[in-house]
Amino acid sequence: MLRLPAVRPIGDGCQSILIIRVHTDAGITGIGEAHTNALVSKAILDAPMSSVSSEGLRSLLVGEDPRDIGRLWDKMYRHTQGYGRRGVAMHTISGVDIALWDILGKASGLPLHRLLGGARRTTTPVYASDLSQPSLEATLALARRHKAAGFRAMKFGWGGLGGDVREDIAVAAAIRQEVGDDIDIMIDMGFAVPFDHAVKLGRGLADYGVFFLEEPLWPDDVAGFAKLVALSPTPIATGEKESTQYPYVDLMDRGGLRIIQPDVARVGGISEMMRIVALAESRHVRVIPHCWSTDILVAATLHVIATLRDCPYLEMNVTDNPLRTDLLLDPIRPVNGVARVPDKPGLGIELNEATLARYRWEGV
Ligand SMILES: [Mg+2]
Repeated sequence: MLRLPAVRPIGDGCQSILIIRVHTDAGITGIGEAHTNALVSKAILDAPMSSVSSEGLRSLLVGEDPRDIGRLWDKMYRHTQGYGRRGVAMHTISGVDIALWDILGKASGLPLHRLLGGARRTTTPVYASDLSQPSLEATLALARRHKAAGFRAMKFGWGGLGGDVREDIAVAAAIRQEVGDDIDIMIDMGFAVPFDHAVKLGRGLADYGVFFLEEPLWPDDVAGFAKLVALSPTPIATGEKESTQYPYVDLMDRGGLRIIQPDVARVGGISEMMRIVALAESRHVRVIPHCWSTDILVAATLHVIATLRDCPYLEMNVTDNPLRTDLLLDPIRPVNGVARVPDKPGLGIELNEATLARYRWEGV
């Protein structure tokens, strides 16, 4: 577990993180990340068995062949059903699964995207993903910074959004005026707003060519999404808080979503992500993965995106945060708004041990 010295109550899940390392007797170590509450997730790794359906992950995995990823995924899912199936248990399984894929890639000498069927692209455009600031001027200063850094797309979310609907639309209008017409803008509400507010947003943001409106309703309001998608000329996106494939079937088939945002470090890892991708591609729904944490998640997401039929952007957290910027020996840094898919075996990343030592957290 790593933790910043000061963790603030803001929409930033990268202030306290859990890295999972899976060691093998062949000397290979796999790296993964669970994007969740680190301390709760660690307990799911460490917990001793309380019944055959309520086991901790560590005891289920020690002694196994890490290359049997599908069988081990099923074993973890099956023996945590007493408390798991979704939420933090599945987030933790995600971190383990990413590490197992890293091991398989390293053992076979192949980058992860080769194991997933091969890359359709070796680079991807990135959207700068940032937090909406308390003052509009501060948000606009960030927009200028991201444009100057070469990003062709940017998202602002959480923070002060979700109050007065006219103010939210005015924020998008001001960003559009600041960055010009050649940049894609996304707006992320973070938390639900009233349904009427969401409809007004969907209509009002269309005047400024907003690429998508993210999470304007409760994650569980699938019927609301169905109505909103029908009424909003701005495309609606959601799904970062789900885990396993099943909620995405609901969001697509009942909710009418045409953009879904599964997070590799939450849904059940690379394994479940590829099952979600198959379900989405069979419906011609776009997968634009949620990716707002460390470079471990960025690397895993890049390998997935490399294999997708249609994905316009990699999301990338662009806040100043050493857990993001200094976690790898060779950090993933987009150039002119474009990121390169790693091509070394496995995830193709190496952790910076000095950063791990500096921010290591033992918990409460
Ligand atoms: Mg979001």
